[in-house]
Amino acid sequence: MSKNGKIQNYMNGQWQASTAVDYLNIVNPATQEMLGEVPLSPASEVGSAVQAAAEAFVEWRQMPVGDRIQYLFKLKDLLEENFEDISRTITMECGKTMGESRGEMQRAIENVEVACGAPTMMMGDFSEDIASGIDEIMIRQPVGVCAIIAPFNFPGMIPFWFLPYAIAAGNTVIVKPSEKVPLTMRKVFGLFNKLDLPPGVVNMVNGGKEAVDAILDHPAVRAVSFVGSTAVAKYIYSRGAANGKRVQAQGGAKNPIIVLPDADMEMTTRISADSAFGCAGQRCLAASIAITVGEARHSFTEAIADAATSRVVGYGLDEAVQMGPVITVPSKERIESLIQKGENEGAMVIVDGRSPSIPGYENGNFIRPTILTDVNPGGEIAKTEIFGPVLSLMHVNTIDDAIKLVNGGEYGNMACLFTSSGSAARKFRYEVQAGNIGINIGVAAPMAFFPFSGWKESFFGTLHGQGKHAIEFFTQTKVVVERWPRAWSRQF
Ligand code: NAD
Repeated sequence: MSKNGKIQNYMNGQWQASTAVDYLNIVNPATQEMLGEVPLSPASEVGSAVQAAAEAFVEWRQMPVGDRIQYLFKLKDLLEENFEDISRTITMECGKTMGESRGEMQRAIENVEVACGAPTMMMGDFSEDIASGIDEIMIRQPVGVCAIIAPFNFPGMIPFWFLPYAIAAGNTVIVKPSEKVPLTMRKVFGLFNKLDLPPGVVNMVNGGKEAVDAILDHPAVRAVSFVGSTAVAKYIYSRGAANGKRVQAQGGAKNPIIVLPDADMEMTTRISADSAFGCAGQRCLAASIAITVGEARHSFTEAIADAATSRVVGYGLDEAVQMGPVITVPSKERIESLIQKGENEGAMVIVDGRSPSIPGYENGNFIRPTILTDVNPGGEIAKTEIFGPVLSLMHVNTIDDAIKLVNGGEYGNMACLFTSSGSAARKFRYEVQAGNIGINIGVAAPMAFFPFSGWKESFFGTLHGQGKHAIEFFTQTKVVVERWPRAWSRQF
């Protein structure tokens, strides 16, 4: 960041002041304190970053993979040394509790660790004598310049679903952080700057739509990894693909949990509350709908209402706080208007978190946990991604009805079941249409060696982020067939 609080871009191994005309304020969502300004970088700056990345690619791809990952080992050390500082930045710009910020940085580091396995994950295949004296070999090579476009809700973790794998595989990278929370990646790039990576291997361009469009249209960008809302994911996927790039685009969600009457109700409500209200509901894996089956209705409703009411809401830097604010004032207004819409559609607001007064943080974007019951499955509140601390309750008579309701939704990011029945759990796991499934557990971001899956309107593409999927996405295969006739053998 320059002295005047304006964030700089990072390209070709150097910090560079943007030539942007427009800047956005970076605002602490708990206090409304201004933390800095972020440039809406013009397309020409994306062009400079791509050029630096393309030039760096020539040498970087030739560096042995075992040498490339040495930079990741150093990066892991630096991330650990700066763990508290980066976590604090996440809390300040994104509004999370410190526990949530530390959790996401932990997962970021795990992705660096897993990417250090690139020498094994990049190994190819070899088949000898597919015909007499003919061998066939499959090798993996990097794709070139790759771009990562990130959302606001995990400013530290989400770029790491892709970045360490991309560079370990021999690619060079441009990161476009969310313009709402650019300070975390700014800190991370401060660490990259200490690694002595060859200039141009990692680059960061701040900005909004103009920067994204410049990435999507630049012929030298070969691959795009996107995480954000479904509308933008679809746009990125179609425009990137139309320009001949490989694209993986993760979108929004509307995640259901099903509670059967035989569930352990104490555990179920505790986990459901964490899932619905963790990160103030701003997680793509957050529970948004709870479907009770049969007699589960009354005990679950009562217990979840208690859990929602007792949650400690405030500024995340206070270690006792269990839930922070939502990201912006428009976001708070949108969430509150959706709650109103639910009421208009016939739902009952049994715990109303709208417009709370949080002592000391009266101007923050706070909404307390909110619970609606008798939500109409056909209504807007049941279908729209709220992305706030709001849980909608619905009721059905059988597990079949519940699964039907889940599979009727347009998204497919996550679904959970709470039960003590093994056969119900198996049925659910088998039939439910979602990429991340929880059984008697809320779904956190998968461990770094698993793909972050997503189905239906929650994902566009084939290969996901993290682990082996990421290595596959960031490499292209080359199949070589060779004939060495035995008659050519010479005695030396
Ligand atoms: P967003 O779609 O508004 O923004 C994401 C990125 O796209 C940002 O970098 C932004 O600058 C860019 N962008 C926004 N509008 C654009 C446009 N019109 N053209 C080009 N680029 C544009 O998402 P957000 O509000 O930052 O993040 C929240 C969303 O992300 C939620 O929908 C959430 O479910 C989703 N999300 C999904 C996952 C997942 O793994 N599926 C993970 C985290 C978040």
